[in-house]
Amino acid sequence: MSRCTGACHCGEIGYALTSKITNIVNCHCNFCRTMNGSAFSTYAALPYRSLKILKGRKKLGVYQRDEGKKYFCSLCGTPLFNVNRKYPGACMIYFGTLDNPQNIMPKFNVWCESKLGWVDEIASICSIDTGVKKSQAGGVVQAGCPKER
Ligand SMILES: [Zn+2]
Ligand SMILES: [Zn+2]
Repeated sequence: MSRCTGACHCGEIGYALTSKITNIVNCHCNFCRTMNGSAFSTYAALPYRSLKILKGRKKLGVYQRDEGKKYFCSLCGTPLFNVNRKYPGACMIYFGTLDNPQNIMPKFNVWCESKLGWVDEIASICSIDTGVKKSQAGGVVQAGCPKER
């Protein structure tokens, strides 16, 4: 197996993982939601020692709150990984930063007590292969999914 790599959006920070990804979780807690600005956060949980920063270490920014520390690219803002004193020796890689995340499926959802009510319905909502065209944007807002027309 070739080793797993990842990077931030601007590419200034790159990393490799020396152990295989086995545990992927979707975290629905309020802490992750507000820290990341997304409905829920998907992480690959790994031993911290298996994360090797290949380049851009000096550009890593750190945000600390309570027991958690989030590391992000200080140039483009991409969250890369976080660590938490509750889980010593572990780190959580932000799944979206992996170079090839397509074939690895999350194993479980955690903190479902604070999961947003609509998350379980995602598969049933209108899905468009690309972004909404400028000319359709108003139509989507007013009339729902363009595919349905
Ligand atoms: Zn960056
Ligand atoms: Zn969380």
